Amino acid sequence: MTRRIVVKLGTSVLTGGTATLDRARMVELARQCAALFHQGNDIILCTSGAILAGRERLGAPKLPDTVTTKQMLAAVGQSRLMLEWERFFEIYGIHVGQILLTRADVEDRRRFLNAQDTLRALLEQRIVPVINENDAVATAEIKVGDNDNLSALVAVLAEADLLILLTDQPGLFTADPRRNSDAQLIPEVESIDKTLREMAGGSVSGLGVGGMVTKLQAADVARRAGVDVVIASGHAPDVISRISHGESVGTRFPALETPLESRKR
Ligand code: GLU
Repeated sequence: MTRRIVVKLGTSVLTGGTATLDRARMVELARQCAALFHQGNDIILCTSGAILAGRERLGAPKLPDTVTTKQMLAAVGQSRLMLEWERFFEIYGIHVGQILLTRADVEDRRRFLNAQDTLRALLEQRIVPVINENDAVATAEIKVGDNDNLSALVAVLAEADLLILLTDQPGLFTADPRRNSDAQLIPEVESIDKTLREMAGGSVSGLGVGGMVTKLQAADVARRAGVDVVIASGHAPDVISRISHGESVGTRFPALETPLESRKR
Protein backbone atom coordinates (compact mmCIF):
# COMPACT_ATOMS: atom_id res chain seq x y z
CA MET A 1 0.00 0.00 0.00
CA THR A 2 1.43 3.37 -0.95
CA ARG A 3 0.94 6.25 1.40
CA ARG A 4 1.31 9.97 1.82
CA ILE A 5 3.94 10.75 4.42
CA VAL A 6 4.90 14.11 5.94
CA VAL A 7 8.43 14.11 7.36
CA LYS A 8 9.20 16.96 9.74
CA LEU A 9 12.86 17.66 10.38
CA GLY A 10 13.70 19.83 13.34
CA THR A 11 16.75 22.06 13.58
CA SER A 12 18.33 19.71 16.12
CA VAL A 13 18.21 16.91 13.54
CA LEU A 14 19.59 19.03 10.72
CA THR A 15 22.51 20.31 12.76
CA GLY A 16 23.23 17.44 15.14
CA GLY A 17 23.32 20.09 17.86
CA THR A 18 25.97 22.25 16.18
CA ALA A 19 25.66 25.76 14.73
CA THR A 20 25.84 24.57 11.13
CA LEU A 21 23.80 22.31 8.86
CA ASP A 22 24.96 18.71 8.99
CA ARG A 23 24.96 18.04 5.27
CA ALA A 24 25.93 14.40 5.59
CA ARG A 25 22.85 13.89 7.75
CA MET A 26 20.69 15.81 5.29
CA VAL A 27 21.84 13.56 2.44
CA GLU A 28 21.13 10.50 4.55
CA LEU A 29 17.60 11.77 5.33
CA ALA A 30 17.04 12.59 1.66
CA ARG A 31 18.17 9.05 0.80
CA GLN A 32 15.64 7.57 3.21
CA CYS A 33 12.85 9.75 1.81
CA ALA A 34 13.89 8.86 -1.73
CA ALA A 35 13.71 5.13 -1.00
CA LEU A 36 10.08 5.48 0.12
CA PHE A 37 9.32 7.83 -2.75
CA HIS A 38 10.59 5.32 -5.29
CA GLN A 39 8.37 2.66 -3.71
CA GLY A 40 5.46 4.84 -4.81
CA ASN A 41 4.75 6.79 -1.64
CA ASP A 42 4.16 10.54 -1.63
CA ILE A 43 6.72 12.39 0.47
CA ILE A 44 6.31 15.90 1.86
CA LEU A 45 9.20 17.45 3.73
CA CYS A 46 8.65 20.02 6.43
CA THR A 47 12.06 21.50 7.15
CA SER A 48 13.34 23.90 9.80
CA GLY A 49 16.74 25.48 9.69
CA ALA A 50 16.21 28.68 7.67
CA ILE A 51 17.40 31.06 10.36
CA LEU A 52 20.29 28.80 11.25
CA ALA A 53 21.32 28.45 7.60
CA GLY A 54 21.23 32.24 7.25
CA ARG A 55 23.49 32.68 10.23
CA GLU A 56 25.84 30.04 8.86
CA ARG A 57 25.89 31.64 5.40
CA LEU A 58 26.77 35.07 6.76
CA GLY A 59 29.51 33.71 9.01
CA ALA A 60 27.62 34.02 12.30
CA PRO A 61 27.66 37.84 12.51
CA LYS A 62 26.93 39.61 15.79
CA LEU A 63 23.46 41.08 15.34
CA PRO A 64 20.81 42.45 17.68
CA ASP A 65 18.38 39.77 18.84
CA THR A 66 15.30 41.20 17.14
CA VAL A 67 12.46 39.94 14.98
CA THR A 68 13.88 41.85 12.02
CA THR A 69 17.26 40.14 12.43
CA LYS A 70 15.55 36.76 12.42
CA GLN A 71 13.53 37.68 9.34
CA MET A 72 16.65 38.86 7.58
CA LEU A 73 18.51 35.66 8.50
CA ALA A 74 15.53 33.59 7.34
CA ALA A 75 15.51 35.41 3.99
CA VAL A 76 19.16 34.50 3.44
CA GLY A 77 18.87 31.05 4.95
CA GLN A 78 15.67 29.83 3.33
CA SER A 79 17.13 29.98 -0.16
CA ARG A 80 20.30 28.35 1.11
CA LEU A 81 18.33 25.58 2.78
CA MET A 82 16.30 25.02 -0.34
CA LEU A 83 19.41 24.91 -2.50
CA GLU A 84 20.76 22.13 -0.30
CA TRP A 85 17.54 20.08 -0.38
CA GLU A 86 17.36 20.51 -4.12
CA ARG A 87 20.94 19.21 -4.50
CA PHE A 88 20.40 16.28 -2.16
CA PHE A 89 17.15 15.11 -3.72
CA GLU A 90 18.62 15.49 -7.18
CA ILE A 91 21.12 12.74 -6.31
CA TYR A 92 18.11 10.40 -6.24
CA GLY A 93 16.50 11.83 -9.37
CA ILE A 94 13.79 13.68 -7.47
CA HIS A 95 12.52 17.23 -8.05
CA VAL A 96 11.53 19.42 -5.13
CA GLY A 97 9.21 22.44 -4.91
CA GLN A 98 9.16 25.02 -2.15
CA ILE A 99 6.03 26.16 -0.32
CA LEU A 100 6.30 28.78 2.43
CA LEU A 101 3.24 29.08 4.63
CA THR A 102 1.94 31.19 7.47
CA ARG A 103 -1.03 30.59 9.73
CA ALA A 104 -3.28 32.69 7.50
CA ASP A 105 -2.70 30.24 4.66
CA VAL A 106 -4.32 27.44 6.58
CA GLU A 107 -6.96 29.39 8.50
CA ASP A 108 -8.60 31.24 5.65
CA ARG A 109 -10.72 28.81 3.64
CA ARG A 110 -9.90 30.24 0.23
CA ARG A 111 -6.18 30.28 0.97
CA PHE A 112 -6.37 26.80 2.48
CA LEU A 113 -7.88 25.44 -0.73
CA ASN A 114 -5.35 27.34 -2.76
CA ALA A 115 -2.42 25.86 -0.81
CA GLN A 116 -4.05 22.45 -1.09
CA ASP A 117 -4.25 22.79 -4.88
CA THR A 118 -0.55 23.64 -5.11
CA LEU A 119 0.37 20.74 -2.87
CA ARG A 120 -1.76 18.34 -4.90
CA ALA A 121 -0.34 19.57 -8.19
CA LEU A 122 3.20 19.01 -6.94
CA LEU A 123 2.38 15.51 -5.72
CA GLU A 124 0.62 14.64 -8.98
CA GLN A 125 3.79 15.56 -10.84
CA ARG A 126 5.81 13.38 -8.44
CA ILE A 127 7.60 16.38 -6.94
CA VAL A 128 8.53 16.45 -3.26
CA PRO A 129 7.06 19.58 -1.62
CA VAL A 130 9.55 21.15 0.79
CA ILE A 131 7.71 23.30 3.28
CA ASN A 132 8.68 25.82 5.93
CA GLU A 133 7.04 28.74 7.63
CA ASN A 134 7.44 31.99 5.72
CA ASP A 135 9.76 33.36 8.40
CA ALA A 136 11.09 36.25 6.34
CA VAL A 137 7.76 38.08 6.40
CA ALA A 138 5.68 36.36 9.04
CA THR A 139 5.35 38.31 12.28
CA ALA A 140 4.33 36.74 15.56
CA GLU A 141 0.62 37.49 15.00
CA ILE A 142 0.39 35.57 11.75
CA LYS A 143 2.84 32.79 12.53
CA VAL A 144 2.16 29.21 13.38
CA GLY A 145 5.37 29.69 15.36
CA ASP A 146 6.89 26.23 15.31
CA ASN A 147 7.32 23.61 12.66
CA ASP A 148 5.76 20.83 14.75
CA ASN A 149 2.37 22.51 14.55
CA LEU A 150 3.08 23.64 10.99
CA SER A 151 3.78 20.06 9.92
CA ALA A 152 0.52 18.89 11.52
CA LEU A 153 -1.38 21.52 9.52
CA VAL A 154 0.45 20.39 6.41
CA ALA A 155 -0.53 16.79 7.13
CA VAL A 156 -4.17 17.90 7.36
CA LEU A 157 -3.84 20.02 4.24
CA ALA A 158 -2.28 17.14 2.33
CA GLU A 159 -4.69 14.53 3.73
CA ALA A 160 -1.62 12.55 4.72
CA ASP A 161 -1.63 9.07 6.22
CA LEU A 162 1.45 9.48 8.38
CA LEU A 163 3.31 12.34 10.05
CA ILE A 164 6.86 11.61 11.25
CA LEU A 165 8.28 14.18 13.65
CA LEU A 166 12.03 13.67 13.79
CA THR A 167 13.94 15.22 16.65
CA ASP A 168 17.05 14.68 18.78
CA GLN A 169 15.19 12.46 21.26
CA PRO A 170 14.19 8.81 20.69
CA GLY A 171 10.55 9.70 21.45
CA LEU A 172 8.34 10.70 24.33
CA PHE A 173 9.51 9.59 27.79
CA THR A 174 7.81 9.26 31.15
CA ALA A 175 10.24 11.95 32.38
CA ASP A 176 13.05 14.00 30.86
CA PRO A 177 15.67 11.32 30.06
CA ARG A 178 18.48 13.86 30.34
CA ARG A 179 17.63 14.52 33.96
CA ASN A 180 16.06 11.29 35.11
CA SER A 181 17.69 7.92 34.54
CA ASP A 182 14.42 6.08 35.31
CA ALA A 183 12.70 7.78 32.38
CA GLN A 184 11.11 5.28 30.02
CA LEU A 185 10.19 5.57 26.38
CA ILE A 186 6.43 5.49 25.77
CA PRO A 187 5.96 3.33 22.66
CA GLU A 188 2.32 4.22 22.02
CA VAL A 189 -0.03 6.94 23.22
CA GLU A 190 -3.77 6.32 23.26
CA SER A 191 -4.90 9.63 24.69
CA ILE A 192 -3.14 12.94 25.07
CA ASP A 193 -4.20 14.00 28.55
CA LYS A 194 -3.05 16.45 31.20
CA THR A 195 -0.58 14.00 32.78
CA LEU A 196 1.10 13.44 29.45
CA ARG A 197 1.30 17.16 28.76
CA GLU A 198 2.91 17.69 32.15
CA MET A 199 5.38 14.89 31.49
CA ALA A 200 6.37 16.56 28.22
CA GLY A 201 6.55 19.94 29.92
CA GLY A 202 10.20 20.63 30.53
CA SER A 203 11.83 19.08 27.49
CA VAL A 204 12.96 21.66 25.01
CA SER A 205 15.96 21.10 22.78
CA GLY A 206 18.47 23.92 22.56
CA LEU A 207 18.21 24.96 18.92
CA GLY A 208 14.71 24.54 17.59
CA VAL A 209 11.59 26.41 18.57
CA GLY A 210 9.52 23.42 19.61
CA GLY A 211 9.99 20.90 22.38
CA MET A 212 7.84 17.93 23.33
CA VAL A 213 4.94 20.25 24.15
CA THR A 214 4.55 21.47 20.58
CA LYS A 215 5.04 17.90 19.34
CA LEU A 216 2.12 16.77 21.49
CA GLN A 217 -0.02 19.63 20.16
CA ALA A 218 0.93 18.62 16.64
CA ALA A 219 0.18 14.95 17.31
CA ASP A 220 -3.20 15.91 18.72
CA VAL A 221 -4.19 17.97 15.66
CA ALA A 222 -2.95 15.42 13.14
CA ARG A 223 -4.38 12.26 14.71
CA ARG A 224 -7.82 13.89 14.96
CA ALA A 225 -7.64 14.39 11.22
CA GLY A 226 -6.96 10.71 10.66
CA VAL A 227 -3.17 10.91 10.48
CA ASP A 228 -0.91 8.46 12.33
CA VAL A 229 1.87 10.34 14.09
CA VAL A 230 5.29 9.12 15.23
CA ILE A 231 7.88 11.06 17.22
CA ALA A 232 11.34 9.55 16.85
CA SER A 233 15.04 10.31 16.69
CA GLY A 234 16.31 11.59 13.36
CA HIS A 235 19.60 9.90 14.14
CA ALA A 236 18.25 6.36 14.43
CA PRO A 237 19.34 4.22 11.46
CA ASP A 238 16.79 3.99 8.64
CA VAL A 239 14.25 5.61 10.92
CA ILE A 240 11.91 6.91 8.22
CA SER A 241 11.41 3.63 6.40
CA ARG A 242 11.22 1.59 9.61
CA ILE A 243 8.43 3.82 10.87
CA SER A 244 6.59 3.76 7.59
CA HIS A 245 6.74 -0.03 7.57
CA GLY A 246 5.05 -0.07 10.96
CA GLU A 247 8.06 -1.02 13.08
CA SER A 248 7.84 0.15 16.67
CA VAL A 249 10.28 3.05 16.69
CA GLY A 250 9.87 6.07 18.96
CA THR A 251 6.40 7.03 20.17
CA ARG A 252 3.36 6.33 18.00
CA PHE A 253 0.03 8.16 18.22
CA PRO A 254 -2.49 6.15 16.22
CA ALA A 255 -4.98 8.17 14.18
CA LEU A 256 -8.34 8.71 15.84
CA GLU A 257 -10.45 8.43 12.71
CA THR A 258 -9.83 7.06 9.28
CA PRO A 259 -8.77 9.66 6.71
CA LEU A 260 -12.02 9.00 4.82
CA GLU A 261 -14.16 9.85 7.84
CA SER A 262 -12.21 13.03 8.48
CA ARG A 263 -12.31 14.06 4.83
CA LYS A 264 -16.08 13.79 4.93
CA ARG A 265 -16.15 15.89 8.07
N1 GLU B 1 10.79 27.98 10.71
C1 GLU B 1 11.95 28.00 11.56
C2 GLU B 1 13.24 27.96 10.73
O1 GLU B 1 13.23 27.52 9.61
C3 GLU B 1 11.98 26.83 12.51
C4 GLU B 1 10.83 26.68 13.40
C5 GLU B 1 10.99 25.42 14.27
O2 GLU B 1 12.13 24.93 14.41
O3 GLU B 1 10.00 24.91 14.76
O4 GLU B 1 14.29 28.36 11.21
